[in-house]
Parts: sequence; C-alpha cells; structure tokens
Amino acid sequence: MWILPKPLLDEALADIANVIAADTEAKVLGPTDSITLNKLYRTYDHNSGTITEVEDKTFSLTKRTALYNLYDKTQLGQSLSYIRAELMSVVDICPMCGIMPSSQLDHLMPRKDYKSLSVCRLNLVPTCGVCNNKKRKGDPSGFVHAYYDHKLENIPFFEIEIHSNPINHRMSWKFSINRAIIADNALADKVEHQISVIKLFRRLYKETNTLLADILSSNITSQHQLDTILAYEYGKYERYGMNDWRRVFLKSLIDSPCFSIAEAKEYALKIRPINGGVNA
Ligand SMILES: [Zn+2]
Repeated sequence: MWILPKPLLDEALADIANVIAADTEAKVLGPTDSITLNKLYRTYDHNSGTITEVEDKTFSLTKRTALYNLYDKTQLGQSLSYIRAELMSVVDICPMCGIMPSSQLDHLMPRKDYKSLSVCRLNLVPTCGVCNNKKRKGDPSGFVHAYYDHKLENIPFFEIEIHSNPINHRMSWKFSINRAIIADNALADKVEHQISVIKLFRRLYKETNTLLADILSSNITSQHQLDTILAYEYGKYERYGMNDWRRVFLKSLIDSPCFSIAEAKEYALKIRPINGGVNA
C-alpha cells in the first residue's frame, strides 16, 4: 500500500472546459455548469477528497447523467483520453495492493453514487483490475485515498513478524497493521477495511513466497552473501515507501533474529514454507 502524488487542483480545473466541450451527445452542459463544476472540484480538494451527496446533487439528474456518460470519453481515442493517459503515466504499480500493475482508473468516490465527479481527475486513482473489482464490495467511504491520505506515508503501520521453528529452521510469517501507531482511528479503520476488502494478506502470502524463492534461487551459501543480497533487494524498492510489502518483508527478514543462513537454506530446500494458516 502506498500513497501517490496528488494531481494538481489547477489541472483538474483546466479539464472543465474540455469536459463541457465533450458533451456533444446529451448537449445539456453549458458555460454556467463550468462554474458549478469548478466549485465542486474545489470543495472536493479542500475536503481532502470528498464531497457530500447534497453537493453532488447540485446538478440535475440529467446533467449528472451526462457527466457520468462522459467518463467513456476518457477511453483511448476519445476527447478526454488525455486525462487517463496523464494519470496512468505516473503510476506503475497499484497503490492499493502494490502487487499488480495499475491498469484501470478507480473512482475513489463511486461513479454511480457521485456522478458529478465522474471525470474529476482528483477522484480517479490508477489501480489494478483485481483491487478495483474487489473494492466494489466494500463500504465506498471506507478506503484510503491514495492522493489525500498522505499522513500514512510517514507512518510505518504495516508489519510482518517472522517466525522460525528452532528445531528444523522452518519459517513462517504473519502480516499485521499497527493501529496504535496510526493514531487517527478513522484512518486506521480505512487501512484495515481496505486490506480486508482487497484480501491483501491472503494475496501477499503468495507474493512474499515468490519474492523470497526468487532471491534464494541463486545458491546463497554464507551469511555474508545472504545479508548482501537482502540489503540490495531492500534498496530496490525504496521509491514505493515504507509500507510497501516488499520493503516491509525484506526489512523484517534483515532485522529478524529468526532469519539466518540456516533458515534460508531450509527454505530453499523446501521451496515453500508452511504458514500454519495464519492470516489466510
Ligand atoms: Zn491492486
């Protein structure tokens, strides 16, 4: 899970003229609507990525439906496709899971409920298809806003505890969220809700196993070799922030007294550890 640089409010406001001009089918949006849209985008930005239902309904249903349908014009070859292209161009990995490439735009405030925001770039977050689909089953207001919840960026809330069986050196690990360190209860609720809805921990068992198996596939024989390769791998993911699962996993391995060359050799032999169903 990581936080993205927020698109500028000015960029979103500059889109408005193009949005109005793109309404060539319904033909219900005009110059006065650009003032309303401008005010709505500013409110959304001012309130850190949210508006009320009443504010959304400033527009009539006809105009909201026109805005809803204009989202189709963000697709390739359409007049608003530059909005999609610009947002996607700065994000490679999905900010919700950190696993898959971003391939879709998620409406943070759902498009069907907040039609006025359908083409507001401040509300469009590049995610992977898996997270985008799973998010639809959750509470729409209960997700981290990758553009506005920047508080999380400097809080190491994601933790992985490494265990090792002292007799056979077989490893297991457990993912958790440190609510206390987030301090802000509402934000901690969002983090937990998001992780639960996108089934992040379950998905991460596979990913952490694959990552470790890849690292240990290069016949590591000494503790020094192991320390060096873990430090190198840890450095590779720095730009994703302190709560990226790869960073947290590798840091936990580096810091844990439960992971040494003995565990690495045992792991490489068995290929996959047993996690005892923890978090599954
Ligand atoms: Zn994802």
